Amino acid sequence: MSNTRKDPSPKDPWLLTPGPLTTTAATKEAMLHDWGSRDTAFIETNARVLNRLLAIAGASETHVCVPMQGSGTFAVEATLGTLIPRDGKALILINGAYGKRMVRILDYMGRAHVILETPEDTPPDPAELDRMLAADTAITHVAAVHCETTSGILNPIAEIARIAAKHGRSLLIDAMSAFGAIALDAREIPFDALMASSNKCLEGVPGMGYAIIRKSVLETCEGNAHSLSLDLYDQWVAMEKTSQWRFTPPIHVIVAFDAALEQFEAEGGVAGRNARYANNCRILMEGMRALGFRALLSGNLQAPIIVTFHLPADPRFVFEIFYNSLRDRGYVIYPGKLTVADSFRIGCIGNLGENEMRGALSAISEVITEMGVKTGAPAAA
Ligand SMILES: *Cc1c(COP(=O)(O)O)cnc(C)c1O
Repeated sequence: MSNTRKDPSPKDPWLLTPGPLTTTAATKEAMLHDWGSRDTAFIETNARVLNRLLAIAGASETHVCVPMQGSGTFAVEATLGTLIPRDGKALILINGAYGKRMVRILDYMGRAHVILETPEDTPPDPAELDRMLAADTAITHVAAVHCETTSGILNPIAEIARIAAKHGRSLLIDAMSAFGAIALDAREIPFDALMASSNKCLEGVPGMGYAIIRKSVLETCEGNAHSLSLDLYDQWVAMEKTSQWRFTPPIHVIVAFDAALEQFEAEGGVAGRNARYANNCRILMEGMRALGFRALLSGNLQAPIIVTFHLPADPRFVFEIFYNSLRDRGYVIYPGKLTVADSFRIGCIGNLGENEMRGALSAISEVITEMGVKTGAPAAA
């Protein structure tokens, strides 16, 4: 496989994005069939996928995995709506777009909430969370994002979980962009729900999310949901009874996910996936630094998922041209989503390895040279 592909090629581009991501041929090929939703082979596959997801979270004994059709946000909305009762109150930790999205979801549903917001390059202060929970006993739930994909920051989830548990509050974690690549074990980090999707670090195709929910909690959630389609209690009860989805299942997505999970296990599970992504991230950060680019986050805050870079100060740098020229060479990057600085993002996740990261770096070097940009350095802070 060639690393720098300048010619228009029938091969798909490498996706250095936060998802959907580059998937393997084996994962895509798993979809080349049709199944009925009552097909016994499919029903077995479905059960195997849900059990594998529980095992990844170390939650097989305590939690259940309830899937939801749609993108990851559908699973987040379903989980908030099913677990937070109508007279509940949530505290949302925000340092990016996905924390803000949870607030929008609660606004739509009319659930009471307060926020603890920090800038996009700053993790929440655990002492402040502790203080807010002590001061407001009406807060029933804490919702946090594990890796805030807006910047790529890793939030201190173990510390957040410890404080929520200390105050006896229920913790809901949006682990969408971290699950499978950053260890989060329910036996060590107590949570009532964790939400993720098929198409991020587990490298399936897009189309379903899921929540890993403490069984003793879900059992009490009948009647909470504001929406039939998004009622995870109803979805769970029906699936327990019939082994089937209530409504049309995204069968091809589930079958591809099963293939992706098999490859995940062959790679060594969370440890193996983390090692590959961490290596991708290291190669990327070193290579970009050598070209003069500066990352937003310091190393200790950076998750090996997606890296935010400041835009170069050189006026000859035009993001549109940069993006399109990289895409023409077979590499898709991602615009920035920050409010604190002008930026762009490059992902380390998906079916990418050392060759693809080095290929992307040489394409970046060629493209900035072509634009007449001598260094990727941003304006002095
Ligand atoms: C990707 C992602 C989501 C879900 O986004 P969708 O576009 O709905 O799949 C939610 N939270 C985080 C942190 C994410 O990275």
